[in-house]
Amino acid sequence: NSWPKHGAISFSKFAASYSEDGKTVLNNITLDVQPGEKIGLCGRTGSGKSSLVATLFGLLHQREGQVMIDDVNTTEVSLSALGSKIIALPQEPFFLKGTVRYNLMPWIPEDKRPAVSDAQMKLALQEVQLWDKLSGAAETGQSALELSLDNVDSLLSQGERQLFCLARAVLMDGKIVVLDEATSSVDAHTDALMQRILRTAFADRTIIAIAHRLDTILDFDRVVVMDAGSIVEVGVPGAL
Ligand code: ATP
Ligand code: MG
Repeated sequence: NSWPKHGAISFSKFAASYSEDGKTVLNNITLDVQPGEKIGLCGRTGSGKSSLVATLFGLLHQREGQVMIDDVNTTEVSLSALGSKIIALPQEPFFLKGTVRYNLMPWIPEDKRPAVSDAQMKLALQEVQLWDKLSGAAETGQSALELSLDNVDSLLSQGERQLFCLARAVLMDGKIVVLDEATSSVDAHTDALMQRILRTAFADRTIIAIAHRLDTILDFDRVVVMDAGSIVEVGVPGAL
């Protein structure tokens, strides 16, 4: 099935905790995210940014209000469905032993992988500007897709490893993408490239990005500022 089709997210008077009797970490959250909208999430450490994102994966215990994704209440969706429908870009890039091809979708069992062609994989790697580098590292006559990433740390820089993870997300089919920006910031070139890819490859996807620096979300549609588990400000990036 194709839910969520549009990628609208609606929090209304939502409150949540990590366990049934735990303290409330999100309070009175009301926010309507439009399909395709790019939202930057800011706020000091412990303000609830990661908790708000974790809510979309059904990881928190709901206290009050609700979270709807395209008119479906998330409490009615299984954890595995939420986990497979919402694309998360992790804070730290991860790789498994295996080829480029395998590392583009390492967590999906072979028999359940989406029908992604070699041409689409190549395109995704071109989009993040890694194709030429990987091709150059492959043996003569070997496709970059067959290149081993067993020693990825000596092959790709931190920024390039981040971009590789972005290529995975490009290949995943899903209307909602969440990013928890690495605190150890990537270099300016990688950062600019990532922003451009989010704008182009993810143009029709909803993005919620936790950002530690304002300049990484300058061309986002809106910035949401959190403090002590609540939203304290919503505005356009330039105005904050
Ligand atoms: P940072 O910028 O440091 O990543 P954050 O804005 O993402 O901070 P959260 O991680 O959402 O903040 O934390 C919000 C509150 O929830 C904090 O009081 C924190 O102690 C609590 N919290 C976070 N994770 C858990 C957890 N797994 N179990 C219980 N409480 C948690
Ligand atoms: Mg966090």
